[in-house]
Amino acid sequence: MTEASAQQNLAGKVALVTGAARGIGRAIALALARRGADLVISDIDEDGAKQTAAAISELGRRSLAVRCDVSRRDEVEALVNETVTQLGSLDILINNAGITRDTLLVRMTEEQWDLVLDINLKGTFFGCQAAAKRMMKARAGKIINLASITGLIGNVGQANYSASKAGVIALTRTVAKELAARNIQVNAIAPGFIETEMTREVSEKARAAFLENIPLKRAGKPEDVAQLVCFLASADADYITGQCITIDGGLTIN
Ligand code: NAP
Repeated sequence: MTEASAQQNLAGKVALVTGAARGIGRAIALALARRGADLVISDIDEDGAKQTAAAISELGRRSLAVRCDVSRRDEVEALVNETVTQLGSLDILINNAGITRDTLLVRMTEEQWDLVLDINLKGTFFGCQAAAKRMMKARAGKIINLASITGLIGNVGQANYSASKAGVIALTRTVAKELAARNIQVNAIAPGFIETEMTREVSEKARAAFLENIPLKRAGKPEDVAQLVCFLASADADYITGQCITIDGGLTIN
């Protein structure tokens, strides 16, 4: 493969990214588009989704912005239907939308628990289920779920978030087993500390502690995660399924 064709190795593919108005989701969408994919940009923030979709169009790819709350099954099913109707197929799904509602276990309300589990875990389940129906017919597809290192090692103040991300990892492995016979690869990514709006809420003390423990001595960028997603979404990763790949500057080896 020439360098030019390698850079366009997703040409002709249709990718759907949830939570793509900003942060990691936006970086993933832009990186997939630079490799040639057409994009559906979905988010609960419709204006933000439209801005990302406009940036994709400027790269010369087809793009569509769709408002969708991933915790609503009807909205996720409508999103997948619209993707196929408007862009012709669904080859790559990135279940990226996620939230935090941090507090210590003894203070955590049932509402904080339910909201995080509904968006992070149930939303990923809805996305996998709706996409699987399409991809099984096509006998091809890639699903990539955003987990977190907290789903592997836990984190103080994130009982709800960590449990949701551990659930995403287990869901990924199970869906990978169920869909392997139909040539659909399903993987999870576990980022460490990535600079986005989500981590801007972290206190200076906690931020300093994270940075101190990262062997590569810097926080991750959304683009770091996007490069890994592009690899997993490409044919180069056709023999990888059911995995959770950590991208954390070495944080979890310390
Ligand atoms: P972010 O900057 O907060 O962006 C998340 C996006 O998802 C926002 O646009 C948000 O919209 C949207 N969203 C929230 N609830 C939604 C819903 N119900 N349906 C659809 N969209 C919704 O977060 P990020 O840092 O880019 O994180 C992206 C993913 O990576 C998440 O799954 C997160 O858990 C995971 N992750 C992040 C890090 C990190 O260090 N940043 C580390 C590990 C894993 P609103 O602004 O309107 O809420």
